[in-house]
Amino acid sequence: MISVIIGVMKKLYVDHLAEKKIRRGIQLLDGRDFQNVTGSDELVNLHNSKGQFLGTAYLSNQNKGIGWFLSNQTLDLTKEYFVALFQQARQKRHSYEKSDLTSAYRVFNQDGDNFGGLTIDLYGDYALLSWYNPFVYNLSAVIVDAFQTVYPEIKGGYEKIRFKGLDYESAHLYGQESPDTFTILENGVRYSVFMNDGLMTGIFLDQHEVRDSLVNGLALGKTVLNMFSYTAAFSVAAAMGGASETTSVDLAKRSRELSQAHFDANGLPTDNHRFIVMDVFEYFKYAKRKDLKFDVIVIDPPSFARNKKQTFSVVKDYHKLIAQAVELLNPKGTIIASTNAANMTVEQFKKQLEKGFGSIKHSYIDLKQLPGDFATNPADVSSNYLKVYTIKVNQ
Ligand code: SAH
Repeated sequence: MISVIIGVMKKLYVDHLAEKKIRRGIQLLDGRDFQNVTGSDELVNLHNSKGQFLGTAYLSNQNKGIGWFLSNQTLDLTKEYFVALFQQARQKRHSYEKSDLTSAYRVFNQDGDNFGGLTIDLYGDYALLSWYNPFVYNLSAVIVDAFQTVYPEIKGGYEKIRFKGLDYESAHLYGQESPDTFTILENGVRYSVFMNDGLMTGIFLDQHEVRDSLVNGLALGKTVLNMFSYTAAFSVAAAMGGASETTSVDLAKRSRELSQAHFDANGLPTDNHRFIVMDVFEYFKYAKRKDLKFDVIVIDPPSFARNKKQTFSVVKDYHKLIAQAVELLNPKGTIIASTNAANMTVEQFKKQLEKGFGSIKHSYIDLKQLPGDFATNPADVSSNYLKVYTIKVNQ
């Protein structure tokens, strides 16, 4: 790898492997393919070893990768460029936009919309822009300007900083400020959200379809256990879908009031709905002791967690959750097993599930991945990070 400065735009010569990935359509630049690159947070022209022009990319360090390929053309990142990108992305989401049942969804998703490092979500009248690296962050003024041109009806915007190095992670960005909390609609269910309190917002929008399945039949008449429940969004979806009881378990104290807020937003009494602040592994022990059983168990852990006693990583330990959950399941019960670990393939995830089930009979009903508004790059399976299996357990 050699880099040469020509005019203002740096020229980077990439090796054969990196060229192959780019030609296949992969946009994320892997640090291992660009080992001798110096400089960061700049636009570069990529060439292969023979000097042929491959396209424009930018370099900037983020959680995954060292930058993004943008186009096989030469580019200027002008307002017009982003307006065109946002318009194309908006057209793809037409069905979401015209729905009366859903007011929160993603309108721009990284490489799925041909610009990695940026996501934009709508929460009713407000937008949430997330910057995944310093290069995109430095472009925020032109991006916000373009966004406002394409979405003039959105009242105000907030930003989330998804890279290290700044002294804040959330801020108001433009226009009107939202109320501290307000409700959005998804599949006809209300959720209580907040725009400016840390990185989270009260709901993970990428799980629309899983909540939809709970609203529309899966939970009807069932008892539901929701593990790693955060604000209990799966539980409120299940309750709206006719679940007879839900139990939500999360370690974070705050989860209780946030969960209550989702139920209150729908006018649902919580007599049959419990919010338990506890480590999930402690809860598994407790429930076994009390001989508690459930018809549906939802498991949605963070990719990596640490408590006082142990660390948990989905790549290595997911099977333990399945093995424990099976013991609390009623005959012919259902497990919904979810992970958002991008470093795990569908096959690796299934292996973990198989290890957890052991000899217990089970059948896979379906696999849900990211919903349509979370457009992915079909050339790069890692962009479709969400994996949610619905499994019937025939014990
Ligand atoms: N299922 C949720 C999202 C889960 S986010 C939803 O649909 O909205 C992950 C959650 O796991 C966080 O709220 C965190 O507090 C919780 N958590 C992490 N480790 C935990 C543990 N050992 N026991 C219980 N909860 C845990």
